[in-house]
Amino acid sequence: MNHIFNARLRGRTGLFTLRWEAGRISAIEPQQGQVATAAGNGLDAEGHLVIPPLVEPHIHLDAALTAGEPRWNQTGTLFEGIERWAERKATVTPEDTKERAHRTIRMLAAHGIQHVRTHVDVTEPGLKTLQAMLEVRDEARPLVDLQIVAFPQEGIESFDNGRALMSEAVAMGADVVGGIPHFENTRDQGISSIHFLMDLAERHDRLVDVHCDETDDPQSRFLEVLAEIARVRDMGPRVTASHTTAMGSYDNAYCFKLFRLLKRSALNFICCPTESIHLQGRFDSYPKRRGLTRVPELDRAGLNVCFAQDSIVDPWYPLGNGNILRILDAGLHICHMLGYEDLQRALDFVTDHGARTMALGDGYGIELGRPANLLILSAESDYAMLQSQGQALVSIRHGEVLMRRTLGDTTWRDAASSATVASDGMGHDSVRLPARESPETDVVLI
Ligand SMILES: [Zn+2]
Repeated sequence: MNHIFNARLRGRTGLFTLRWEAGRISAIEPQQGQVATAAGNGLDAEGHLVIPPLVEPHIHLDAALTAGEPRWNQTGTLFEGIERWAERKATVTPEDTKERAHRTIRMLAAHGIQHVRTHVDVTEPGLKTLQAMLEVRDEARPLVDLQIVAFPQEGIESFDNGRALMSEAVAMGADVVGGIPHFENTRDQGISSIHFLMDLAERHDRLVDVHCDETDDPQSRFLEVLAEIARVRDMGPRVTASHTTAMGSYDNAYCFKLFRLLKRSALNFICCPTESIHLQGRFDSYPKRRGLTRVPELDRAGLNVCFAQDSIVDPWYPLGNGNILRILDAGLHICHMLGYEDLQRALDFVTDHGARTMALGDGYGIELGRPANLLILSAESDYAMLQSQGQALVSIRHGEVLMRRTLGDTTWRDAASSATVASDGMGHDSVRLPARESPETDVVLI
């Protein structure tokens, strides 16, 4: 295998042949309007989109697949999730952590994700879980590139030895410095935790990703502190504010002022739409807030925003199967982003924007010399992928096929039924029945 032909590329017209050598992209050749036929050792994309891998910029692999152990989160709140996790954490072993993390990584890879940023709880004396996840980072390299965030789930200032644990986590090899200022016991502790973590990141040349204002409380305003420190120190592109759900409850006058700062800070933003719509709004009667940050407004302001899954079957969120395109679908609905223009570029929020948040640089993208990490999708455009609930059909990593998916066939009672629904009338052959109608799939991780 050394090339893909009949590939459609985002933002470009016509069909392309992509070639690679020694795991790097060596040619991007327009086919001059011609449909190519099989020649040598190539994969036929059949006119479908070929993109760089999907990106998962915010997940908690150390907590994944623990929902209901020992008890379910009955209130559905973030805070009960933290309590339930504290109970489960007491029984965690490094073997348990690694087994669940690897199983979850395979779920992600089966959906075309090759870049993952995971938070790892470091409010744990001894940091055994972090050590286990650092081993997972190496062991999982054939499937994904993993960034590890030192995440103080129970606080930096509010947890015994919180600062020392964060420093030790960075010394052990965490890639990213985390935080949770809205969960600290006092507002002052929240602010001092941000100063501490930004110092730590700057001193050790690490990225920053803070769980910031993950609450419906309109008085939770740590984002302005994070943004201002990032602006003053010129660290913005390496700093991410995750969640910022309180922004959905800020009044517009405050937001107007805040956005001026955000633009100057150049922070990255991560929205976890399924998690937030599930966890937030829990103290409301009606009308109920959606509990999401202002995704379209951040995007229109030129700030980098991406979507993420956050949880898979853990104390905070009981569902999830690794498919970030499901999150994209939900996010666009919840954020009122189903306008035509948004649909044309919807995949930005789970590809390029996530890659920018993770600072992947020239390690990502379809450009000469970059890694031959590529997906063949099941439809020919962003819009058609959304409309057909499309999937990644082939995942190529460093020039080798990593995963193939065969979409299930639908069988009709008689042939005539199938003929009557052959087209949606919109010119999207991605919805041609029956081949792409069934959600049932066979996935082979190779
Ligand atoms: Zn999170």
